[in-house]
Amino acid sequence: SQSVNVIGAGLAGSEAAWQIAQAGVAVNLYEMRPVKSTEAHHTENFAELVCSNSLRGNSLANAVGVLKEEMRRLNSVVITSADETAVPAGGALAVDRDIFSALITKKVKEHPLVTVIHEEVTEIPEGITVIASGPLTSSALAQAIQDFNGSEGFYFYDAAAPIIEKSSIDMNKVYLKSRYDKGEAAYLNCPMNKEEFEAFRDALITAEVAPLKEFEKEKYFEGCMPIEVMAARGPKTMLFGPMKPVGLEDPKTDKRPYAVIQLRQDNAAASLYNIVGFQTHLKWGEQKRVFQMIPGLENAEFVRYGVMHRNSFMNSPELLEQTYASKKRSDVFFAGQMTGVEGYVESAASGLVAGLNAAKLAKAEDPVIFPQETVIGSMAYYITHAAGKHFQPMNANFGLLPELPERIKDKKLRYETLANRALTALADTSF
Ligand code: FAD
Repeated sequence: SQSVNVIGAGLAGSEAAWQIAQAGVAVNLYEMRPVKSTEAHHTENFAELVCSNSLRGNSLANAVGVLKEEMRRLNSVVITSADETAVPAGGALAVDRDIFSALITKKVKEHPLVTVIHEEVTEIPEGITVIASGPLTSSALAQAIQDFNGSEGFYFYDAAAPIIEKSSIDMNKVYLKSRYDKGEAAYLNCPMNKEEFEAFRDALITAEVAPLKEFEKEKYFEGCMPIEVMAARGPKTMLFGPMKPVGLEDPKTDKRPYAVIQLRQDNAAASLYNIVGFQTHLKWGEQKRVFQMIPGLENAEFVRYGVMHRNSFMNSPELLEQTYASKKRSDVFFAGQMTGVEGYVESAASGLVAGLNAAKLAKAEDPVIFPQETVIGSMAYYITHAAGKHFQPMNANFGLLPELPERIKDKKLRYETLANRALTALADTSF
């Protein structure tokens, strides 16, 4: 079989290279570090964790824990190495970052079918290729990817509003309506009176923001405005922006609330909603505290907090197949954070799927698509089926899985059932 190029030995690229080599196909793994580094990497090791040393939850009670278990069963180099280098972290899987990255580097480098080439790739090569150059892809390659995908295809800045589980919204306090009743009633509206608005604004402008990385500063001001910055501009600024109440009269009272916060459906299954216009740089704990002041969101479960950071990601719903292959060139695969999955584990998981499929292509075998009931499959499904217009990167979460045939009220039992279904679906997948 022909060999496969993998670009980037980060979380996704290391996993992709490992899967390809384990499938018996030769890999040329291109990594630019240490010849050239990114703004966030500090070492020359593969799969360096650029920020936290936690790979998040490790139990089957959360989606990222189920994802890890799926990856263990798929012989993931990232997760097995994390297990081998774990440090105590309660219910989370956290690692000694140096030992973790060194171990992955050793396993991948020493694999007899892997050849490592330390250079910056600036063009998309010929032949079967997995591009996994990450959210901080070097600018030459970023340009090449943008040219390849078309100008709409590659964003450089990630400004995302928080995403909430619909089941955690108090439906008695919100109402379904589109502004001026235009089109189908699509938004969930959270009404506020004057006092509530003023207390909310106060909380917003005094809440603690996350520190900016040096390289993020200049981009930050070019990007769209964080809600806390808008709030600080003036007592009424938000009322003319995302909290504008006109055309949103409450059907129960027929009155126009003083202010309205709108929630927009975020996935096809309508299990997730985002807070419209609320991209934010507040610390995560602060987001929870302040946004739970919104009527109806008192008990909101956040599946993803708002973020504003440099992040190159593509409009995958328009550009990728569920195998992570490009719609434009079937022998080019993308993997990692740049495909719109979010997080270390999710990035590695997408590398796993892209790697398996690149190896299958090299061996002229049928591709594998993991069922949507699995967490790994639900992410591939999400990034290729979300609405392209508002596409934002996404963490693994149970909201991405198809609903259970019957509603289970008890959350613990619901998650357990989803986890069992995922692992059974994985075991039933032949490839
Ligand atoms: P990376 O792990 O970044 O790997 C990409 C690799 O490609 C790098 O090794 C890079 O050197 C190489 N490369 C780039 N361009 C080229 C080129 N032209 N030629 C050859 N090689 C190239 N996620 C979390 O779960 N927890 C966190 O705490 C967290 N913090 C983050 C902090 C920052 C500042 C950023 C930017 C992201 C963070 N993320 C975090 C998100 C994400 O999980 C990580 O970015 C993750 O590393 C993404 O994996 P990846 O494989 O897509 O990219």
